[in-house]
Amino acid sequence: MKTNTNQVPQLGYLNLAKAPAILYQLTPAQLVEAAIKRNEGVLSDSGALAIDTGEFTGRSPKDRFIVDDHVTHDNVWWGSINYKFDGAKFNALYNKVTKYLSEREIFVRDSCACANEKYHIDIRVVTETAYQNLFVHHLFIRPEVVNPDSTPEWTIIAAPGFMADPEVDGTRQKNFSIISFSKKIILIGGTGYTGEIKKGIFSVLNFILPHDKQVLSMHCSANTGSKGDTAIFFGLSGTGKTTLSADPDRSLIGDDEHGWSDYSIFNFEGGCYAKCSGLTAEKEPQIFNAIKYGALLENVNFIPGTRKVNYNNIDKTENTRVAYPLSNVSNAIIPSIGASPKNIFFLTADAFGILPPISKLTPEQAMYHYISGYTAKIAGTETGITEPVTTFSACFGEAFLPLHPVTYAKLLGKKIKEHQVNVWLVNTGWTGGAYGVGQRMKLSYTRAMITAAINGGLDNVKYHQHPIFNLAIPLSCPNVPDEILDPRNTWANADNYEDKANQLALAFVKNFEKYADYSTPDIVNAGPNVAVAV
Ligand code: ATP
Ligand code: MN
Repeated sequence: MKTNTNQVPQLGYLNLAKAPAILYQLTPAQLVEAAIKRNEGVLSDSGALAIDTGEFTGRSPKDRFIVDDHVTHDNVWWGSINYKFDGAKFNALYNKVTKYLSEREIFVRDSCACANEKYHIDIRVVTETAYQNLFVHHLFIRPEVVNPDSTPEWTIIAAPGFMADPEVDGTRQKNFSIISFSKKIILIGGTGYTGEIKKGIFSVLNFILPHDKQVLSMHCSANTGSKGDTAIFFGLSGTGKTTLSADPDRSLIGDDEHGWSDYSIFNFEGGCYAKCSGLTAEKEPQIFNAIKYGALLENVNFIPGTRKVNYNNIDKTENTRVAYPLSNVSNAIIPSIGASPKNIFFLTADAFGILPPISKLTPEQAMYHYISGYTAKIAGTETGITEPVTTFSACFGEAFLPLHPVTYAKLLGKKIKEHQVNVWLVNTGWTGGAYGVGQRMKLSYTRAMITAAINGGLDNVKYHQHPIFNLAIPLSCPNVPDEILDPRNTWANADNYEDKANQLALAFVKNFEKYADYSTPDIVNAGPNVAVAV
């Protein structure tokens, strides 16, 4: 990468040109040094920078707004996911944040999103802290050449030390993350959680790509085999996108956000953001080994008296994280582009322990489950979640969708048909009973099921239908005990299982009511049978 720290980027358009120090395009080494000098963090024994993100250790979805303007007014799916923000209030708050930053040392980085050149967007990121800038270096795509004189397409401004005054500024509380599509600015304040930065631009792409370019944007990870057979893994936070896409036998394309254009899928990002809780070299070797020099560890604890991370210590948060560039992963594909997928996995962490650990979906069931997005929010990534909370999150990523979920579902349905993709529903959540009674599905079993699905190991086995959910459940799977494949067998009491399965089916049906008008009867009928009258 070409860097020139003597250059001063064009910041006039942002009202930031007067900041006393503008640290432009620093290298990871310089950012690590700056972070340490500024007391933002310390080095771990593997050479990673370990910092604390402060009060916020997860995203705050209720404080994520979109400015109501001529671009968004008639297009955004307004409501409890996409809260409206007034344009004049945005301008006023923007002036306050930029005034605040122009009195400080600021870190500026030019980066981009979308590995596919055709959809590439340039992003200038201004951060108050060095560690946030290191995060951007790792997670966004690193351009070969930068042009400090240019005005980039999008700008992100992140000022964790700036606190809003809700009464005056129109926010809900002191922290906020606001997207203006007409100004092409994401304004973040009051929170130092880096995930807000990456999910801000993800929300932007979830608007631009399907709306303007007919490209499906997806909350999924992706990897590919030696024959170019791509697999993608949709799932809400904590369901296993990052973990399951890290596979020593397959090349990593990306761990979280991808687009699917006509012939290929492409990563939006240039790095990974992995959970660290309970991390071991044995269970997750690729992630463990990626935590080397320059990686950014968030909210972890050391073994007292050492700089060795204790990954089992989650005193600060369950959502301990590490950010690293794709180049830290030995088998990553860069630029991260792959063929259209042959297999799609919907990862669901079922906290009730009802859904089978793997089942094969018909194209109609695929649409039904994609729109439903049944899963549980796992402790950590969102503020206030401390144990699994059952939820339906459309497209397995509702929180990041500015458009109505059916927009994405239609695009996916078309692609599944065109490319004859196999679609699997994988329960990475509970087995043997609900959360509290049963246990989380063993990672080694989930991995074995996914390997079998990809390698054809489930093509010639017998299946039976789940009586309520109508899902096709394999009776056997290489390297997985037969008895765990049918969840009914794993419960102490089969009648209890039926009761709870019926309750869950009812919840599915109720949730789907709001989509009935947008769906075809085939899709509605692909849902579960409900034994009791609604
Ligand atoms: P995010 O969107 O927040 O990045 P994610 O979907 O990438 O979330 P992961 O980071 O992969 O989720 O987290 C999955 C966590 O669950 C890991 O800590 C992993 O070790 C753990 N886990 C336990 N059992 C399983 C399983 N059967 N399958 C997948 N992950 C499991
Ligand atoms: Mn992830």
